[in-house]
Amino acid sequence: MSERRSYGLWIGGRDVPALAGRTFEVENPATKETLAIVAEGLEEDVDRAVEAARQGAAVWGRSSAEDRFHALTRLAERIRENLEELARWETLATGRPIREMRAQMKRLPDFYEYFAAVARVAEGSVPPFIGPYLNYVRHVPLGVVGLITPWNHPLLILTKKLAPALAAGNAVVIKPSEFTPTTTLDLARLCQEAGIPDGVVNVVPGYGPTAGKRLAGHPDVRKVDLTGGTETGKVTAALASGHLASVAMELGGKAPVIIFPDADLTQAEAGAAFASFIAAGQTCVQGARLILHEDIYDRMAEALSRRARQLRLGDPLDESTQMGPVSSCRQFDRVMGYIQAGAQEGAVVLAGGEPVTTPPLDRGYFIAPTLFGEVRPEMRIAAEEIFGPVTVLMRFRTEEEAVSLANASRFGLGASVWTRDVARAHRVARQLEAGIVWINDHHRIDPAMPWGGFKDSGIGREVGLQAYHAYTQTQSIVVNLGDEPFDWYGGSQRYS
Ligand code: NAD
Repeated sequence: MSERRSYGLWIGGRDVPALAGRTFEVENPATKETLAIVAEGLEEDVDRAVEAARQGAAVWGRSSAEDRFHALTRLAERIRENLEELARWETLATGRPIREMRAQMKRLPDFYEYFAAVARVAEGSVPPFIGPYLNYVRHVPLGVVGLITPWNHPLLILTKKLAPALAAGNAVVIKPSEFTPTTTLDLARLCQEAGIPDGVVNVVPGYGPTAGKRLAGHPDVRKVDLTGGTETGKVTAALASGHLASVAMELGGKAPVIIFPDADLTQAEAGAAFASFIAAGQTCVQGARLILHEDIYDRMAEALSRRARQLRLGDPLDESTQMGPVSSCRQFDRVMGYIQAGAQEGAVVLAGGEPVTTPPLDRGYFIAPTLFGEVRPEMRIAAEEIFGPVTVLMRFRTEEEAVSLANASRFGLGASVWTRDVARAHRVARQLEAGIVWINDHHRIDPAMPWGGFKDSGIGREVGLQAYHAYTQTQSIVVNLGDEPFDWYGGSQRYS
């Protein structure tokens, strides 16, 4: 390994050591080598960061919409200029192929530009008010907000929160995943270069039970926006509500991919493979349950197994690599545990089902893309979130059965429906208990699209105008337009 970086915390526009002087290592999951040494923030460091953010919020919260528009537009530009470096480091830390990370990094500026525009055009309102009054409503920032992010798409997920938070005039303290903090620290520096005032963007790398918990429970934090596992979301939301902070929780998923026999089956097959194995299956909307009509089940099972076996696993920095390792030892153990559970429960391994042992891939956390057939909804591999390159196949006969299989889950984040029948596509989509439904596609996202889940997949929405408004609070200003004197104790009647 030729390069190893070291990072401090990012507080008040400066790279500073943690107060206790502790550090932790970030590992490359493709090789298990150490990529970076990063300062480990503890509770007292979060307190420092929140104080810096309070000062940042006082400046940024009073800045004009035009200033925010320009700063976010410049940030989009700085990201474009640094795209290759950001993509390379996201690949090194997550193990995701460089081809995927370049494509994902290219999308980031869209989010900052969209929310720059939203900041520029956002308007208040003037609701009717009985009597000689003018009530105008302003949308003002919340103040300091805490952003807690996972390791699977470190910068994309951060961006979905940071862009609306900054556009609305808030200051942030970010607690990135302990597995992938480096690009978040790089982005904080780009924010400074883009002219966002010091103290507005602060980053405290560290662990959930220390730094994360303190951030969620800090009394000066007015909103906690977390992406992570469902159990983490429940604990964090409870902490935030202890001081009446608002929450947005983007949590786990187990997306169904329903394929009807009238679909364009070539496209459906390509789409199902894309849904299942992009990011080695480590996405919250992974096509984790392929729900196939009985007439096409065998054909699809065979085609998808062939595709799974043909995926090129390799060095994530190699342009031709199609799938990298899972992102950590913890993920490796978790995914292999589920694979064993699936086999024990009687599901049939159609492809994969084991770690990759061919050198040099045996140095990293590589798992062969895995498909299970003959899966029943009550099996653990069908009910629980695996978050790895494992997908289960189930068969249905009728449309009702397809919908009921898809909805038989505690999660409700993403889903896709594949059919050429327009009426059926919409009819099924509307019955699905999922916050996002794609028709004849999967994984598509846009800055204007509200993103979030039903049921155990979370509460609140990322991106879209809704997210911008959720980063503000309204202030009603009521102006007395009358010239009639008013003295309640002197006998005036007007009181509305
Ligand atoms: P995780 O829950 O382990 O951690 C997420 C973040 O929360 C990390 O920064 C972690 O340090 C922090 N954290 C952990 N415990 C905490 C606590 N007690 N208090 C405060 N913070 C705490 O999740 P992960 O393994 O990093 O990510 C995978 C999970 O994220 C999966 O369940 C996946 O479905 C979910 N996810 C959801 C979406 C979505 O949009 N809904 C997107 C991506 C990932």
